[in-house]
Amino acid sequence: MTRPAIGIDLGGSHATIALVKDDQVLGSHRVSLDSAQPLRPALDLFAEAIRKLLAELQIDATECEGLALGFCGLADARIGRVVSTNKKYEDAPSIDFESWCRLEFGLRFAIENDARMALLGERHAGAARSCDNVVMITLGTGIGGAAMIEGKLLRGKHAQAGCLGGHLPARVGGRPCTCGAIGCLEAEASGWSLPLLAHEWRGFSASKLAGQGNIDFKMLFELADAGDRVAVEILDYCLMVWATGAVGLIHAYDPERIVMGGGVMRSAEIILPYIQTYVNQHAWTPWGKVEIVAAQLGNDAGLFGAIPLLTGNV
Ligand SMILES: [Zn+2]
Repeated sequence: MTRPAIGIDLGGSHATIALVKDDQVLGSHRVSLDSAQPLRPALDLFAEAIRKLLAELQIDATECEGLALGFCGLADARIGRVVSTNKKYEDAPSIDFESWCRLEFGLRFAIENDARMALLGERHAGAARSCDNVVMITLGTGIGGAAMIEGKLLRGKHAQAGCLGGHLPARVGGRPCTCGAIGCLEAEASGWSLPLLAHEWRGFSASKLAGQGNIDFKMLFELADAGDRVAVEILDYCLMVWATGAVGLIHAYDPERIVMGGGVMRSAEIILPYIQTYVNQHAWTPWGKVEIVAAQLGNDAGLFGAIPLLTGNV
């Protein structure tokens, strides 16, 4: 019989804390946070939310498999710690989460990068079920990546293999990225770089984009659909960047399937066929075609990732 797992999905502005079992979220709570602040004081809030959740569901902590944390930075599952933070929760590498979890709940603790957790979740209960060779790309403010090869998450010596998919180079001499590189996928076509890209686009001032406050992908898709020439050009460019990234990821990791996630996938009916066609034409896969599919679990993916991380040999 399977046991419930406690999952914490930690993002920049909040943490979602949930009990998950099989393919169900039994219950969840949300804790608001500020990633500019240290994480250690928030552990008390997490413990409080977990106790409340367990009480509501009438489940004793000892009945749970363990607690798994998806962290928005580099984390090493093998040593149970955060490795690098990229300006969010800067104190996280100094936190001994395993001791905290054992003292609070007497439970086993596991940690992983949030993009890898999302891949694990999609493989457990979503778009990557029964797929042992899969890459996930999450298009958001940044671009998250994760890769699984022959049923094992790709981690690498320094725990950063696969999860820097958004920092694959897409354009020689392109935009500077937050990671230190130049022309990364993320620097060319992500939530944070889109406004920068748009403002520098030829003819921008004549576009309806120019009259908007925060330029985001929802707006870009809407204006492109309405025939705004600059929006159409920028959207074509972003699609090309993502498709180029997909081919790079295929050549790097040899997946059978690429799962695309993130809020931008509201426009999956435009994004998926574009990338599928490009990949069919340009990826070297003599065995067949890599399937490009949409993620199915949304924000729950990382929570479901707690189950295989705690119980599977991943
Ligand atoms: Zn980068």
